[in-house]
Amino acid sequence: MSDAPFLIRLVAASVAIADKAGLIVRDIMKKGELGIVEKTGIQDLQTQADRTVQMSISTSISRLFPGVNVLGEEDDDQPAVDEQYVYSDMSADVLKYADKCPDKYKNVKPEQVVVWIDPLDGTKEYTEGLLDHVTVLIGIAIDGQSAAGVIHQPYFNYKAGEGAQLGRTIWGIIGVGSFGFTQKKLPEGKTIITTTRSHPTKTVQEAIDAFKPDEVIRVGGCGHKVLIVLEGEAHVYLFASPGCKKWDTCGPQAILEAIGGRLTDIHGNVLQYHKDVKKPNTGGVLATICNHDYFLKNIPQGIKDQLKP
Ligand code: AMP
Ligand code: MG
Ligand code: MG
Repeated sequence: MSDAPFLIRLVAASVAIADKAGLIVRDIMKKGELGIVEKTGIQDLQTQADRTVQMSISTSISRLFPGVNVLGEEDDDQPAVDEQYVYSDMSADVLKYADKCPDKYKNVKPEQVVVWIDPLDGTKEYTEGLLDHVTVLIGIAIDGQSAAGVIHQPYFNYKAGEGAQLGRTIWGIIGVGSFGFTQKKLPEGKTIITTTRSHPTKTVQEAIDAFKPDEVIRVGGCGHKVLIVLEGEAHVYLFASPGCKKWDTCGPQAILEAIGGRLTDIHGNVLQYHKDVKKPNTGGVLATICNHDYFLKNIPQGIKDQLKP
């Protein structure tokens, strides 16, 4: 076992386990038996990949880091533990940062930590073959604040054809940085917004219209949309709806904030991630690399009034 600080080891394990989760997600798709279940309705699905990856990540993390709180989207539907999906690997790329652990995280105790898992974000898109929308999300909160995160994109590069290396893992720790992606310069003099594809509502659309955007990128998944903001493809991810949950935002938020971005609700409130917090982000989601206050200020009050934090 590495003697790196606890948080660095936890992130190193999360990266390695998320990589393995990508194999599970691709394998289930290849076999073609998705085992789709409707949770609250046709827009809220669960597949065998959601269930198996949930069990894999949650069991692997709990065994490696006893005492840590582990909460996941599919906790209630987790299948029996299957040892072939329980891992103890750690990413060497992350362990290299052992001596960069910020002072405030050096003595973190397991009880201070909540690991938020979205085993498959963008499930609806997964079932429709929009494969690059799909991500596996692991968020690490310390004392209720998002501190580190992992976004694994199992089908990154899948349009590149035979032989291309599939999948990538993006990770970040506040105070250390974010890794695994390329940041482009945002287009100037334009507003590009990314938002939901499969969960549109009246408030979602009205909030977008208020900015008279030049382009709206409608794609699945919170992880995927934060990636679009991270890479400089959109100025903002705006979702004026209560549908997104803590496991969607915890990991992506840390990755974004580790490079100076912000992710809050549409009122500007800092999201809380302690273990007893309510799961839905009822105040919506706003994520940016820069100019966060401009977007906060210009979301119409009438929409803010409909989305109580
Ligand atoms: P989307 O941008 O629509 O892909 O949503 C981002 C995340 O929030 C996904 O995990 C969705 O499952 C979740 N989500 C958003 N709206 C809803 C909703 N109305 N019901 C259930 N889940 C939702
Ligand atoms: Mg999700
Ligand atoms: Mg999910």
